[in-house]
Amino acid sequence: MNPGLYIHVPFCLRKCPYCDFYSEADLTLKSAFLEALRCEMALVAEALPDAGGFDTVYFGGGTPSLLEPSEVAGVLDAVQRHFTVADDVEVTLEVNPGTVTPEKLAGFRHAGVNRLSIGVQSLDDATLRFLGRLHNAEQARDVLDAARACGFASLSADLIYGVGGATGQSVEAVLSDVTALLSYAPEHLSCYMLTLEEGTPLHARHSNNDFMMPDETAQGTLFSTVSDTLTEGGYLHYEVSNFARSPGFVSRHNTKYWEMVTTVGLGPSAHGFWCGGGGRQEPSRWWNVANLRSWLACLKEGRRPVQGEETLDREALMTEALYLGLRRMEGVALKDFHRRFAVDLVSVLGGLFGELEEQGLMVRSSDAIRLTRRGFAVADGIVLRLLQAL
Ligand code: SF4
Repeated sequence: MNPGLYIHVPFCLRKCPYCDFYSEADLTLKSAFLEALRCEMALVAEALPDAGGFDTVYFGGGTPSLLEPSEVAGVLDAVQRHFTVADDVEVTLEVNPGTVTPEKLAGFRHAGVNRLSIGVQSLDDATLRFLGRLHNAEQARDVLDAARACGFASLSADLIYGVGGATGQSVEAVLSDVTALLSYAPEHLSCYMLTLEEGTPLHARHSNNDFMMPDETAQGTLFSTVSDTLTEGGYLHYEVSNFARSPGFVSRHNTKYWEMVTTVGLGPSAHGFWCGGGGRQEPSRWWNVANLRSWLACLKEGRRPVQGEETLDREALMTEALYLGLRRMEGVALKDFHRRFAVDLVSVLGGLFGELEEQGLMVRSSDAIRLTRRGFAVADGIVLRLLQAL
């Protein structure tokens, strides 16, 4: 499979209180960032000459839609100059609805972006206020309409559910959000249960008993509500948090992470993964320094801004293959797992598989194990049990 390229745009107009991704609210270094990004491309292209042809470019962040269309075009031009890029490359740009106009969206399309990932999060103003988002529901609706009107044929929308309040979010509220989003028929949906990340303002508020989160049982019900509604609406629930209107709209870029294909990350805090082979035999992962100024300083000195790197041993790879595989509709292919790790999962974990099957959480065929949609709701716990028994 071809490698993917991720570009972390480290700017946000202001921080959302639940978010722990790296970004800066000060945009004065935007030009310096764009210039240094070209230097990083040159250094990476030199370091990984055998990476192969990239067939995805993903602008994530942060808020990539704070870039001007001409700046996105400039970055894509530099990507073409430094790397081999497939003709049918999927170019995704994350859009925060509070930062774009219809003209800007049209400009992104003209610049070469062919897929938008729109951070809708909710179509309910009270929920958006709770999440501290920049935009309101009307702005999100306008962006969904404008993206279609200017010709984007591949739209993904993000939804956050399981938010807090005087009580946890109700099933009716989540249903109303999902139904409202469905009316825009996005080709792809990423639906995430809100998690309280340590160190974020929302986590601190919750520790002060400012609001209630849905308990585990309620979270399970909300997960099923989202999954059932979208599945009944014709979507494939192809990964724990991801839905596609048809197999052709499965996120090509994210599939690279799930299938442990080589991905290169550029920009502060970006991660890269080398799947092995070439001049660097062992699979490895590296990550850039999560600080814009330090990242700029490294590149000014002509050094790659890599803060850490680790080689993945057999055990780590096996853990990831099981974790990532069971989070996907395809599950874990038993023969493939045996070929890679010389482990017959059925002989080692057959008893546990039987229990999970009886509980309606897993299905087993002669060639694969898969979680059911009910199993998806508790995927992390299942993987943990399997890993402990492995
Ligand atoms: S806009 Fe996105 S990246 Fe920026 S703070 Fe909010 S959630 Fe995080």
